[in-house]
Parts: sequence; structure tokens; C-alpha cells
Amino acid sequence: MANILITNDDGVYSDGLLALYDALAELGDVIVVAPDRPRSASGHSITLHKPLRMDKVRLANGETAYATNGTPSDCVSLAALDLAKDKLDLVVSGINRGPNLGYDLTYSGTVSAAMEAAVYDINSFAISVTSYDEDLDYSLAARFSKYLAEILLRNELPRSVLLNVNVPDVPIDKLAGIEVTRQGKRHYDGRVEKRTDPMGRTYYWLGGDLPVDVLADGTDVKAIAEDKISITPVHLDLTADSMLQPLKDWDITSFSPFSE
Ligand code: MN
Repeated sequence: MANILITNDDGVYSDGLLALYDALAELGDVIVVAPDRPRSASGHSITLHKPLRMDKVRLANGETAYATNGTPSDCVSLAALDLAKDKLDLVVSGINRGPNLGYDLTYSGTVSAAMEAAVYDINSFAISVTSYDEDLDYSLAARFSKYLAEILLRNELPRSVLLNVNVPDVPIDKLAGIEVTRQGKRHYDGRVEKRTDPMGRTYYWLGGDLPVDVLADGTDVKAIAEDKISITPVHLDLTADSMLQPLKDWDITSFSPFSE
């Protein structure tokens, strides 16, 4: 039987995690370690300055899960290094409520948990539904999670590579296709609300308006705009290969600490 860790950044009691559990339970033993509260947009942060706890809790389907006070990445470490030490065949993070497209990836706790699994050389994918609806229907994403999990239990991803999956919020019969994509460009028009509190002190809300997507062919944002499931292979190597030679051409390596 395969050992599958599931985690997320929406918290251990989120509907998306429950849908993922039920979808993957037929494939093996599902182990749940997830944050005890919502930790969306926590990025790839880890907890080094306070103790981590793992509390046994019961999910709405009656199954046991572990709730931690740590981040999504901490959840993967706790499982990979202790709870299911050397036994994990697959890590799945999600199902997230809300998209993880373009530059979202660097902020995303959901994707970062899958990245952490890649650090441990464990096959992993992150999966999100691209809507923030309160009553989001996870059934399409759940069915695709099972399909993809079966593939990743048979095939090994290269080191440092994970998959980032986004599923459009459409009825199953409206799904327009499935596309393997590149990470596209999406950013939020930055906005800071500056206000004054009752004590007369200034405070700020970091906000953002609707995302700005560059709908280039072959990208995750374009696939989702076309109501397709998007699967992006993501590499942890952030090196900009195209700049290795130009930096040398700029004489950066000619620096001498002894010359004026
Ligand atoms: Mn989230």
C-alpha cells in the first residue's frame, strides 16, 4: 500500500482537504498533517523559533489527522522526518480554495508544501481550484487528484521537480481540456490602504485588486482562462540560466579587492 501525505494551507478542517482525503483513500494509506489554522500566503516559511506541536484531531469523515501550529512546509518536515519517516511515496497539497498561478507560486503555502516534499526527494503535487467561492465544488479537482496521484505512484519526477495543478471552477461537463503549461505571468496591482486607528496611530492593509494576467499561449493563466485544467512542472532551481553569460560579459567577475 502506498503512503500518501496530504497537507494544505487552508487549515486541517477545510473542505478541500476533506475532498482530497476521500479521493485518495482508495490508493493507499492517507496521512494528514495540516496547519491548525488557515496559513494561506505563508510562502515557504518554516518555524525555527518556537516549538511545534502535533495534535490528533478528527476530520468530518471520521478519520484521524494531525493538526500542527506550524506552516505547510513544517507539516511536510514533521511527516517526512518523524511521523512517516522514510515511508512517504507521495505528498499532495490542497485542494486549495483559490488559484495558484503565475507569481502566486512564490507566496503560496499550498505550492510551498509540495516544494518542501521535492526538497526531500518525494514525488509531490499541489492542486488548487481557481475560485474563492465559499461553497466551492471540489469534485472535479478531487477526481483529477486521484487520477494524477495514480500516475505519480507509477512514475518518478526528477529531483527538485514538483507539479502545480490548477482546476477551473466549472461544472464537470464544461471542462474544456487538460493542458501541460508553463508558469505564466500574473501579478496583483499592489495597493496599500493607509488608515488611522482610534488611538491616532497609522496602520496599513496590504491589499490588491483583481489579478493582472498576461494570457500568453501555453501558460497556466491562459489554460485557466480557457476553462482547462493546467499542470505545470515546477523546478526548485531558480537560476536564470539566460543571465549566466551576460553577467560575465558585464565584467562582474573582474572585481579585484586589491585595486582601487
Ligand atoms: Mn490557501
